[in-house]
Amino acid sequence: MYTRKIAEPASFSEYLTTFKKTIKSVFNEKKNTEKLFHERVFPPSVLKDIMTTRPLSVGIPKEFGGRGAEVKECLGILDAASYESLPLSLTLGINIALFMEPVAKYAQESVKADLFSRFLNQQAMGGLMITEPDYGSDALNMQTSNVKIGSEYHIKGIKHWQGLTGLADYWLITSRQKRDSGELGRDIDFFICDVQQPNQSIKIEEYYNNIGLYPIPYGKNIVDIQVPEQFKLEPESTGLKMMMDLLHRSRFHFPGMGMGFIRRNLDEAIKHCTTRFIGGKPLIAMDQVKHQISKVQSAFAVCSAMCSRSAAFSGIVNNLASEGIEANSMKAYITDLMQGSAQTVAQLSGANGYKAESFGSRAIVD
Ligand SMILES: Cc1cc2nc3c(=O)[nH]c(=O)nc-3n(C[C@H](O)[C@H](O)[C@H](O)COP(=O)(O)OP(=O)(O)OC[C@H]3O[C@@H](n4cnc5c(N)ncnc54)[C@H](O)[C@@H]3O)c2cc1C
Repeated sequence: MYTRKIAEPASFSEYLTTFKKTIKSVFNEKKNTEKLFHERVFPPSVLKDIMTTRPLSVGIPKEFGGRGAEVKECLGILDAASYESLPLSLTLGINIALFMEPVAKYAQESVKADLFSRFLNQQAMGGLMITEPDYGSDALNMQTSNVKIGSEYHIKGIKHWQGLTGLADYWLITSRQKRDSGELGRDIDFFICDVQQPNQSIKIEEYYNNIGLYPIPYGKNIVDIQVPEQFKLEPESTGLKMMMDLLHRSRFHFPGMGMGFIRRNLDEAIKHCTTRFIGGKPLIAMDQVKHQISKVQSAFAVCSAMCSRSAAFSGIVNNLASEGIEANSMKAYITDLMQGSAQTVAQLSGANGYKAESFGSRAIVD
């Protein structure tokens, strides 16, 4: 059973206000701040408080009780989250862009209701498995294989660097069809794995010691599962184009994450430079400091424009398979703007910017 009507206030701005209030209080509680700095997962109570506000409802179609998978709302949630925590925003982004939107667009109708109900009502999470130890950029040569036996697909291989390793309840797993000759087909197939089902659990061989994004677990996953045929995604043409469509859409979501992150850097920079006095004057009185802050303001303006473009263009109704140049440029440019803004804050903070727990240094590494 799934809930068709959800309890969120009707308008998105009301909903966003509630979400912002919750995450602000969760991330500013001292006991949580310390845990978030040291621990390699979100403390369960933190995640529970956040997920009970149902941020993932923005990625669920209306007919399954969600807010409609509208890009504008997805970006709004990513923006609000990244103001408080980039790892939180990326966690939501992984769920929305790398799992829920592809499922909404390409999964068979018969499996959607139960699955989305678990996201809405049981705080389920989902991620995407593409990368393998020997095949990263070269993903088309991945070695994970699938063989159909009766009404099930047997999927076998090794994946690594998946965001939410060990935490996700669902995975989209990519693989190539194994022919009778043992050769692997050229196209890529996608399967939904529900780790709670018999024969679908994923063995985690190793957790990685990621340099930043501490609360997001990454690692090496051994895949040896059997998935009923109705959990295979159905591409519009080829699986390869489906993969490009979903990867490009995820890159079009980057400005959402960039938005809150850059705004926070701007607020931190202005707060510091108006309250730090040097030679009797606030830092912000200096031309060079003003210039540096203006670069963060300019990053904010560019990022807003990209959000507007993304909201108008990158919905699941459009196929983005051939929009590689725009999607990849957006991701690369926004990442540079985010990194530049973090560098500015760390540098303007002086020696304190070199503390591991300072906002600027964390932002650089994340
Ligand atoms: C934080 C993080 C999160 C991730 N999340 C996920 C996830 O959720 N799911 C998932 O499946 N994977 C994930 N990945 C893996 C990511 O997709 C791969 O790291 C990426 O595809 C690159 O593969 P690789 O690491 O094997 O590098 P390689 O393919 O070995 O590339 C090494 C370097 O060579 C460069 N290079 C490659 N080809 C060319 C070329 N033609 N010309 C010039 N330079 C080139 C690359 O840009 C890179 O700098 C994540 C990785 C990180 C770091």
